Amino acid sequence: MKEKRVALLELIDNIERLGQFQDKIDFPTTIRQIWNTFLNEIRNLIEVEVCALYLVDEITNEFALKYAEPEDMARLCRREIDLQIECGIFSWIINRRQPALIPALAFESAKSVVMLPLTTVKRTLGVVLLLSPIQESFITHEDLKLLTILTKECSLVMENTLLYERLRKKHLSLERANREIKLLSRRDSLTGCYNRGYLNELLPREVTRALRYRRPLAVAMCDIDHFKKVNDTYGHQAGDQVLKKMVQSITELIRNDTDWLARYGGEEFLLVLPETGLENAQGLAERLRKHVAREVIETGEGKISITASFGVTGFDALVPAGVITPEALINKADQYLYEAKKQGRNQVVSGPFS
Ligand code: GH3
Ligand code: MG
Ligand code: MG
Repeated sequence: MKEKRVALLELIDNIERLGQFQDKIDFPTTIRQIWNTFLNEIRNLIEVEVCALYLVDEITNEFALKYAEPEDMARLCRREIDLQIECGIFSWIINRRQPALIPALAFESAKSVVMLPLTTVKRTLGVVLLLSPIQESFITHEDLKLLTILTKECSLVMENTLLYERLRKKHLSLERANREIKLLSRRDSLTGCYNRGYLNELLPREVTRALRYRRPLAVAMCDIDHFKKVNDTYGHQAGDQVLKKMVQSITELIRNDTDWLARYGGEEFLLVLPETGLENAQGLAERLRKHVAREVIETGEGKISITASFGVTGFDALVPAGVITPEALINKADQYLYEAKKQGRNQVVSGPFS
């Protein structure tokens, strides 16, 4: 009588301890952490040699081995499940939703396999396989009851964690997609340089920064000469290729950490040169002009050569604030560009902003 009472008290103690499984896990947690905590608890209950966790794969809906302990038993664990599936015991256990003690098929036959289905009211998450050196007949009804409680607790924690992980993954991929959309929305789809929309956002910031820190800023408006003729002679697609190539060449020749290029419209581009005085900007525009004029562009319709005209302006630290707006800067560059066209094209005309 006394012995029975001690055993009962022990069982109650165990049940209480297992009921606190959730408290032993810090949220948010990982499947690995849950698995480690679960294994510790299992080892307090029953002697185990090998343990393996199989989770239902989200995409294939099949059971896949997640962890095996010891790790070098992974191959045998996979084999064990394959054999259990083949003889139908596996699906019987899943449907029964109760731990089961069954003979080992892939492991030595003297050992027993305990299969614990990880299930909640809503779904089956996976299965735990334990290989015990104890013979089947020595594993008690109480042992299995305790394993049931522990497995239920583990299933609940795992379900929450899996949901959390899936949500987090979705959230991350959404964030990545948003970032990509944002980057793409700044670019001109043909040439890959910034588009007019982003120019309108970025240029005011460059002007404000230059004025606040009293740094020089220059801009160059670049327009391809007689581009209409290129389209008329070689077709619109060849014209597109020319635009692409010209942007690529200019991008390669400017400082890629500070300078930037935006498509202002059609075959007209604005080059923005922070930290650059007018003289240096004019020098750079001259180098770009020569490069464009020298380059022979291979297109599907044959080799094409073009020239471009540049209007350059800028200000330095001494210009008083207030009079400089991004629009005024662009207009001034446009005026110099108009001069360059008037003077015969394929040239750079520059002058101060004032
Ligand atoms: P100018 O030397 O005075 O600048 O002469 P232009 O022929 O270059 O100037 P105009 O403004 O008369 O013509 C610009 C041409 O650029 C006409 C237009 O069809 C062409 N264009 C604009 N955008 C694109 C484009 O995306 N692709 C192609 N292929 N052509 C374009
Ligand atoms: Mg033109
Ligand atoms: Mg034009």
